[in-house]
Amino acid sequence: MQPDQITIDRLAINGGEPVRTEPFPNWPVFDDREERLLLEVLRSGKWGELTGDKVTTFASRFAAYQGAKYGICVPNGTMAIQLGLKALGVGPGDEVITTPYTFVATASAALLLGAKPVFVDVKADTCNLDPERLEAAITPKTKVIVPVHIGGQPVDMDGVLAVAKKHNLRVLEDACQAWGAEWSGTRVGALGDLGCFSFQAGKNINAGEGGIVITNDPELAELCWSLHNVGRVRGGEWYQHEILGWNFRMTEWQGAVLLAQLDRLPEQEPVRERAARYLDTALETIDGVEPIAVDPRVTRHAHHLYPIRYDRSRFGGKTRDEFLEAFKAEGISCASAGYVPLTSSPAIHKTIAEMFGRDSLAQLDTCPVADEVSRDVFWLTQMALLGDQQALDDTVTAIRKIQAAWS
Ligand SMILES: *Cc1c(COP(=O)(O)O)cnc(C)c1O
Repeated sequence: MQPDQITIDRLAINGGEPVRTEPFPNWPVFDDREERLLLEVLRSGKWGELTGDKVTTFASRFAAYQGAKYGICVPNGTMAIQLGLKALGVGPGDEVITTPYTFVATASAALLLGAKPVFVDVKADTCNLDPERLEAAITPKTKVIVPVHIGGQPVDMDGVLAVAKKHNLRVLEDACQAWGAEWSGTRVGALGDLGCFSFQAGKNINAGEGGIVITNDPELAELCWSLHNVGRVRGGEWYQHEILGWNFRMTEWQGAVLLAQLDRLPEQEPVRERAARYLDTALETIDGVEPIAVDPRVTRHAHHLYPIRYDRSRFGGKTRDEFLEAFKAEGISCASAGYVPLTSSPAIHKTIAEMFGRDSLAQLDTCPVADEVSRDVFWLTQMALLGDQQALDDTVTAIRKIQAAWS
């Protein structure tokens, strides 16, 4: 579509021709590697983690991929965070500091252990937790800091680790979107005491559901293993339970799929990277849409999401959500409004009020940057990044077309 045509064409939402009618690539991606490994599990009759070798093989391969010594697989990312917090000694009445611009599980994992999530605002440029605001949130009850590498961009871990060290706090990285991501040359997940990853259906590595906790600390690794396996100890008897634990074991079906998915990830990395670079350049030419800044100390970005800040004043005053509706009508289906900040989540409000009293709700009004980000930022999902050049061009053309129609 030529630029002068754009102004003439009616928007698809008003009955005009959409920019794109082709679908974006299918998700999930799989081939005979997944099929072969799944059949192997089926025919072996070893369908559980404790009898088969797929989960344990994947756990050590993935841990090594992230530069960690140990990995303990669990059924999903939420359980990974819950297990990790429990291993770090979090219990009733403790406080866990995190960001409100994240998936609900980051905070619910703490609440499910009886601990209070305390929210620290994000940086406006990166949308990630702002380490400069951490110290003001620390109290004698603070146990753990949980930085979240949103979209696959690592948090400023130099800043987080410095504060943690000064105040003798543990760090659990919510790396649920950050497979392969790297901060200043080191992969995320074992920069802190523990790192948690998700392999849920929408994630870059996907087994429908899945999660892992990784660490370089042998004692924490043993504790996580025991907690995930009903308090058993390695080499102990079947009915010997030394501590109270959960059954958070992964199935071999998940392990099989994950082995194939981990092999595929490096093949997709250059595709994601190239798409992100292309969008960075293309969006520079459009006033009113700006990619979220990447900290120069990020040496590798997982590109799970491509977040864009939307300036309604450049789109005739139309809101971000009106824009997304028009975008979808133009055939760009792989965009999302993203998170409602957890400081506005009814589930978090109700639970904090019930467990800690209504006075504890005051802290939920202290994150104006996250509110602004949740209102003005939207995401392109990974399907946009894994599409071909035409898909990227259509995405950019649709933004131009909507802007031309509205200004
Ligand atoms: C996906 C995700 C989780 C939780 O993972 P599940 O596997 O869905 O339980 C936690 N935190 C973040 C930031 C996530 O994106």
